[in-house]
Amino acid sequence: AFEGLSDKLSNAFKRLRSKGKLSQSDVKEAMREVRLALLEADVNYKVAKDFVAKVSERAVGAEVMESLTPAQHVIKIVNEELTALMGGENVRIASAPKPPTIVMLCGLQGSGKTTHAAKLAHMFKKQGRRPLLVACDVYRPAAITQLKVMGEKAGVSVFEQGQGNPVKIAKEAVKHAKDYGNDLVLLDTAGRLHIDETLMDELKRIKAEVGPHEILLVVDAMTGQDAVNVAKAFDEALGIDGVVLTKLDGDTRGGAALSVRAVTGKPIKFAGTGEKIEEIEVFHPERMASRILGMGDVLSLIEKAESQLDVKKAEQMARRFSENKMDYNDMLDQFAQVRKLGPIKQILSSLPGMDKHLKEADIDDSQMDKQMDRTVAIILSMTKRERACVDAINPSRKRRIAAGSGTKVEDVNRLIKQLEQMQQMMKQFGGKGKKRRRMMGMPP
Ligand code: GDP
Ligand code: MG
Repeated sequence: AFEGLSDKLSNAFKRLRSKGKLSQSDVKEAMREVRLALLEADVNYKVAKDFVAKVSERAVGAEVMESLTPAQHVIKIVNEELTALMGGENVRIASAPKPPTIVMLCGLQGSGKTTHAAKLAHMFKKQGRRPLLVACDVYRPAAITQLKVMGEKAGVSVFEQGQGNPVKIAKEAVKHAKDYGNDLVLLDTAGRLHIDETLMDELKRIKAEVGPHEILLVVDAMTGQDAVNVAKAFDEALGIDGVVLTKLDGDTRGGAALSVRAVTGKPIKFAGTGEKIEEIEVFHPERMASRILGMGDVLSLIEKAESQLDVKKAEQMARRFSENKMDYNDMLDQFAQVRKLGPIKQILSSLPGMDKHLKEADIDDSQMDKQMDRTVAIILSMTKRERACVDAINPSRKRRIAAGSGTKVEDVNRLIKQLEQMQQMMKQFGGKGKKRRRMMGMPP
């Protein structure tokens, strides 16, 4: 999803990249392109206009952070405003003061209610909850069967009474949940192709009868602005607490994801990314914004790095890289910096283009952590001179280091090789320090 929008936004920023200081007209031109990109992605007209106005206001004349180029600065603002547009923080679903929490899913036919009722049940079950799925879509026998099949995949029980009265079924399901200790009731309701009185009346009656703590509207992201209109209509008629935006895996242009919150005031809480039971994500506006910007979560990574990296240390390290003087002390520093950024898998998955490979790679963070611990132990068992590569590490030194760190000589050899490879790599980058520093993700 979002490829078109990502490309267009990236084009809008390309021009800025080559600029030193940004003039008002540079920003204006870029913002014109941003606005067009949003409109083409089917973002609501007024939302796009307000968005661009806000970004422009912030971008012109603002103090640029020392560590960012003017273009990066604009991208940072766009990223922040996209995040704000989608609601800023993730909003969790309500929780009943006394269980069970009742969640009602509603939406048009085919939007993904049944699928997402089951996905949510599966997700919450994994978190230790005891969900109950309830078949309130009674008009087609196939709908009940579908919920039962999905419920089985989720490993969650399904409450159904065939083609009875959905209001009564909802009520009895809640009673059943209380009797059987289910702390979460998910009501899968009927949908129509279009919003109509009869449907809304039925949903209102279910709402009045069981008093759901959370009404989630399920909308299909592929329908673009229609999704936003549907959200508005459901909110006005029924009152919704949040949105489940489905089919984000498809060929959606992104308009719905970007406008729902601004137009309805209701947050997107979950996103559906496929037909399988586990293909659901908690919706994080910040991550989505970065994804739309086509840079993975790189920006938030920059931010994290800015706030957490010891800048002096980073500069010192960069200088050593550019002078090709890397030693074991630098490795220790690097490990410390990496650890501050968080789990490796998360870091890697936030790099552009990495997501897909990572899903296949299946990195085990605790394993990597252990590996890092071992390496650190080896370095700490070296003398000061060995760490600074003053004394060559001969076989007897290797044995001493291995014994001191509780590792094997092979482990020490591996580390020595690793440093050699890094030094070699630095050499191969060639160019001046500036280029190397950029490769290491450091300010020029
Ligand atoms: P309902 O009528 O609202 O209950 O919709 P369903 O849950 O039956 O879903 C309608 C169709 O959309 C089914 O074929 C689902 O497999 C499919 N579907 C639902 N959610 C997603 C999603 O996030 N991604 C994709 N690709 N397909 C989905
Ligand atoms: Mg259904």
